[in-house]
Amino acid sequence: MSEDGADPLQEFRARFALPRDAAGRPLVYFCGHSLGLMPLAARQIVNEELDSWEARGISGQFSGRRPWIDYASLLTAGLATLAGAHGHEVVAMNALTVNLHMLLASFYRPQGARQRILIEAGAFPSDRHAVVAQIRWHGLDPADCLIELAPREGEELLRKDDIEGAIERAGETLALVLWPGVQYLTGQAFDLVRLARTARRAGAAIGFDLAHAIGNVPLALHDSDADFAAWCSYKYLNAGPGAIGGAFVHERHQRRVELPRLAGWWGNDPATRFLMAPAFDCAPGAAGWQTSNPPILSAAPLLASLGLFAAAGLARLRAKSIELTRALEAQITALPPGEATIISPRASDRRGAQLSVRMRGSRDRGRRVHEALGARGVVCDWREPDVLRLAPVPLYNTFDEVRACGLALREVLAAIP
Ligand SMILES: *Cc1c(COP(=O)(O)O)cnc(C)c1O
Repeated sequence: MSEDGADPLQEFRARFALPRDAAGRPLVYFCGHSLGLMPLAARQIVNEELDSWEARGISGQFSGRRPWIDYASLLTAGLATLAGAHGHEVVAMNALTVNLHMLLASFYRPQGARQRILIEAGAFPSDRHAVVAQIRWHGLDPADCLIELAPREGEELLRKDDIEGAIERAGETLALVLWPGVQYLTGQAFDLVRLARTARRAGAAIGFDLAHAIGNVPLALHDSDADFAAWCSYKYLNAGPGAIGGAFVHERHQRRVELPRLAGWWGNDPATRFLMAPAFDCAPGAAGWQTSNPPILSAAPLLASLGLFAAAGLARLRAKSIELTRALEAQITALPPGEATIISPRASDRRGAQLSVRMRGSRDRGRRVHEALGARGVVCDWREPDVLRLAPVPLYNTFDEVRACGLALREVLAAIP
């Protein structure tokens, strides 16, 4: 039997819409790290909410199959499982960068000499913009307060000893660490439990950006003791463009109503929210960080997708993901020497689905390779100046597609001098 025939998750591919070429053949879609494919169930579930709006108007808040007033709570169990958290520690809300700001507003509290934030030098620009803006918001100077840790000269990946060393060196000047679960460009996965322990030992708060981690690698946020985390849902969570994001706040902050926060009525305890009293009666747990009522039409597809994650099971998904990515790695390392260098970690437990590949030759050649792959039906992405990112996703990609990608790469590289 082929690897795909033996795959216990093979039935899930049929539950996704697969983008196709002009002849109607499915594209090899390896861009789930950027925008996950559409679960077929998403259309129905969005339609149900449109129907409810059409038929009920405002009473859709309180009636119908899924009253909107409790909609965010329908997402909690699925998100908590993926995040390795308790239900009261997670909430679906806003979008990722907004959530980073909301949580930094509470957890970046510069005091005395403790004013600095540590991030990685290659951070996703939005994360850097957010921390720089927060430092300025407090009237401080990013030149003094932002520490950016780069890999060693000539290296692509960050060593855990260097990260821990940076935390320890910053010591009592360190207010907060913001770190990715999986680095967006290199695909490097970090040991979040260890990082959180080191940061907290240094007396700093720590939050994680899980944009490329949630739905991709196993997470244990509660046990990590991190203060907070935030993510988007349109990458590995397949909730559609601009879908509702998510946040984690550790249970030790559950009743800390005194924490400064950018409050709004949706963070008010639901039991008293509609009394419309002037005072903010903070909801316990992560729910207390909500501000606005949630966007139902961008939350509904997430519900469909979380149903698929629950049915597939994270352990089985991860097991298949490791095999798929290893198979892709074998295809890439079998290319003619020097053509393509994998910069992602080579150990499965240090990476998720994605492989990042540095291409030989000029930036122009790399871009032509990327375009030629697209013309051959392989969808991956190009990050300046010279990196292809390819992510076979265990919910909908196959081993056959990995082989097809390897063949396409071989032919394209041979055709472009
Ligand atoms: C995808 C991604 C974002 C995008 O932020 P939005 O607020 O959802 O637009 C931010 N940070 C990281 C690390 C990402 O991977």
